[in-house]
Amino acid sequence: MTIAVDPSRRNLLFGRRPQTPMAPRPPWASPAFFSLCSRCGDCASACPSQIIKVGDGGFPKVDFSHGECTFCGDCVSACQSKALDTQVDSPWQIHAQIDASCLAERGVDCRICGEACDQQAIRFQLAVGKVAQPVINTEQCTGCGACVAPCPSNSIRLLELIT
Ligand code: SF4
Ligand code: SF4
Ligand code: SF4
Repeated sequence: MTIAVDPSRRNLLFGRRPQTPMAPRPPWASPAFFSLCSRCGDCASACPSQIIKVGDGGFPKVDFSHGECTFCGDCVSACQSKALDTQVDSPWQIHAQIDASCLAERGVDCRICGEACDQQAIRFQLAVGKVAQPVINTEQCTGCGACVAPCPSNSIRLLELIT
């Protein structure tokens, strides 16, 4: 009998980088994150927003379902192994994506995510025969995740593709 194993999990267990989009690593992750991270959990303990959780293989991941990243840098300061490092140019390259379960797709004039976004990265585009549809401006989106938790239909994802 063959036992199916999630490829991203298998890669992590064997120290390889996952090739499928996954929950993001904490901000300012080093290019050598998976080699350097000792899985100590210090970043998670330090995060005032409590958005860093234990992910596959014991590596930390960010979960925006109950909060956002304020880019305070406390996780980086707590990381003794330099797996998180402010020498890295930007905290991360992730942006919000809205899937087809968005209530606006079903004719509900919902603008909750736009109201949650301090960056004004979500605009609502008029569409013929539809209510206004949310569109993410990826230039303005910082990947803070503030739009995720308020979305009533759980339609917003921020995933990281590690290559
Ligand atoms: S920068 Fe601050 S809010 Fe963001 S994950 Fe790190 S500790 Fe949490
Ligand atoms: S909050 Fe969610 S359901 Fe409402 S417009 Fe934004 S993505 Fe769609
Ligand atoms: S992740 Fe942050 S900046 Fe990006 S659209 Fe959501 S609330 Fe706005």
